[in-house]
Amino acid sequence: MYDVVIIGGGHAGVEAAAAAVRVGAHTALLTLQKNALARLSCNPAMGGTAKGQLIKEIDALGGLMGRATDLSAIQYRMLNRSKGPAVWSPRAQVDRDGYTDAIERLIAARYPELDILEDEAVAILTRDGRVTAVQTAGRSTPVLTRSVILCSGTFLRGLIHVGERQHQAGRYHENASNALSDSLKHMGFPLLRFKTGTPPRVVKSTIDLERLERQDSEADLWFFSHETTRRHREQHPCWRLHTNEKAHGFIRARIDESPMYNGTIQSVGPRYCPSIEDKVMRFPDRPAHPLIFEPEGVGHPWLYLNGFSSSMPVEVQLQALRSLPGCGEAEIGRPGYAVEYDVVPPRELRRTLETKRIGGLYLAGQIAGTSGYEEAGIQGLIAGANAALQVLKREPLHLDRSESYGGVLVDDLVTLDIDEPYRMFTSRAEYRLLLRQDNAEARLGEKAFSAGLISSERYEAIRRRSDRVQRWIDRLKTVRVPRREVYDGGKDPARVESLDHMMKRPEVTLQRLVDLLGSDLTEGLSLEPAVRKAVEIEVTYEGYLERQRREIERVKGQEKRRIPLEFDYDSVPGFSAEAREKLKRHKPESFGQASRLAGVTPSDLAILLVFLKKTSGGAAA
Ligand SMILES: Cc1cc2nc3c(=O)[nH]c(=O)nc-3n(C[C@H](O)[C@H](O)[C@H](O)COP(=O)(O)OP(=O)(O)OC[C@H]3O[C@@H](n4cnc5c(N)ncnc54)[C@H](O)[C@@H]3O)c2cc1C
Repeated sequence: MYDVVIIGGGHAGVEAAAAAVRVGAHTALLTLQKNALARLSCNPAMGGTAKGQLIKEIDALGGLMGRATDLSAIQYRMLNRSKGPAVWSPRAQVDRDGYTDAIERLIAARYPELDILEDEAVAILTRDGRVTAVQTAGRSTPVLTRSVILCSGTFLRGLIHVGERQHQAGRYHENASNALSDSLKHMGFPLLRFKTGTPPRVVKSTIDLERLERQDSEADLWFFSHETTRRHREQHPCWRLHTNEKAHGFIRARIDESPMYNGTIQSVGPRYCPSIEDKVMRFPDRPAHPLIFEPEGVGHPWLYLNGFSSSMPVEVQLQALRSLPGCGEAEIGRPGYAVEYDVVPPRELRRTLETKRIGGLYLAGQIAGTSGYEEAGIQGLIAGANAALQVLKREPLHLDRSESYGGVLVDDLVTLDIDEPYRMFTSRAEYRLLLRQDNAEARLGEKAFSAGLISSERYEAIRRRSDRVQRWIDRLKTVRVPRREVYDGGKDPARVESLDHMMKRPEVTLQRLVDLLGSDLTEGLSLEPAVRKAVEIEVTYEGYLERQRREIERVKGQEKRRIPLEFDYDSVPGFSAEAREKLKRHKPESFGQASRLAGVTPSDLAILLVFLKKTSGGAAA
């Protein structure tokens, strides 16, 4: 009997399995293909805006994604450098096969107790509303377990479209999984139908790359994982180009052969990841759209054409491609395609990612309505930890909106009406300046340690670093010198000011202060790069950070007030019809969640609060 069985070895599944083992559960990972763990279904890149922050959080919680990214990265770039540190976002091109390889090696080395079973899950068995086992296609007896985490990605009733051609598949050349959809329906889950798409892979030797704009890795050294100290692979370039009117013309002329446009595909795709035919039709005035050729891997014969996702017939994809600069002789190695798949609406989930309907059944990743490797990874980690914590009868792991993008993601999933694939953006987080890529360990270290996700040695190291940052800040606040010793001093160069005050000026960096004041300032303190960065941001943005922290405290007073699952909304007079319907449907677990439901107004919330205060179950947590 297992404590936790994970169905699906994608990005959600591997993080779930690793987290459950770290917490201490007897765990099995059941997947269709043992040698395709964490396969990158779409672009050969990790991170990016808000997604890079998610990888840092996964790493802070002891997960695999950051380290595997560093082991397979062939180009590093920090996005949004021209903007404030709140939105700096790490991104890396990775070697596609190298990433899977890195995950497999990390699991083999660090999680030898994890059982990896190659089989298809066909049904989840329950008794009295609780999970008992997983029935597989290849085993005569069910795999007994106390909990299940379903991470089946795009495979449930997966249907691939290329022009008019359709075939059942979860990904190209990988069988769909249909039986599990029936099993979910049998348990009473409603199912939605979403779609996503991918661009053609283009034969590299047929492209004149000299004619395109080359993009190289940054020289600056930084990493996704706390444990990485060097680049592990040679860095490789990408190539930028743009579409043109000729290519748009080919697409427009045959738009009625696009399954998206002729009504064949009815399901909803990710709004922020539109196909090329979508871009051409929705923005008819735009003469060009940016594209990037990204390497599929070192020595791989194909390039991935980022920005050119399509489900048009292959000959239209080829015609449009050949009208682009440097692509006159282009050949397609694998066509772009769209895939439709089943999704369980995430309002079915609690904050632990356990379903409200079936005890011990958790969902994570694409099956729960998200899109993206990083979104899947963090959910897998949260679900894996919580399934294990529940079996071991320990406190659940809840990440808060104010402390992590992971918390924002889960809260959005369980409270918003998700009707299209959800992806993370920095704009979804209220407290962006606090949720930076550089401070994920400081934000999450304590919770990671309490849940058993990281070792005491690592937690001690995180605490020591936070102490060093605080000691630096204290020193900068207490050392006071005349302005002219540090900068020209403006109208009053003789005025004596504390160093933290002076650091609000862009030209006064911490390094400059160290150079000018030497041991008067640095006595007893060390200044490694991570500490320096944290001190600079904390001091420079002190006012904004303080304001965000105060706002969090204020909202938290009510935010955590619990709402019992059985709360009878019909017994409360005065709700608007829409609010009553939304509250009954979503069954929010806290006042904070209720406050974010679309259609629940401030006056509905005021009424709710009065009734919560009256009921004994409504005590603030
Ligand atoms: C064609 C395509 C295009 C995409 N485009 C984008 C994009 O543009 N942007 C973006 O952010 N994301 C995109 N994605 C999504 C991204 O790949 C996923 O969000 C991410 O991989 C989800 O991770 P996951 O763990 O939920 O599922 P997956 O990575 O899909 O993994 C699912 C796993 O479950 C296993 N499995 C399925 N059914 C069973 C079963 N019954 N029994 C046992 N094992 C099972 C599979 O073998 C697989 O290992 C795309 C995906 C596809 C397929």
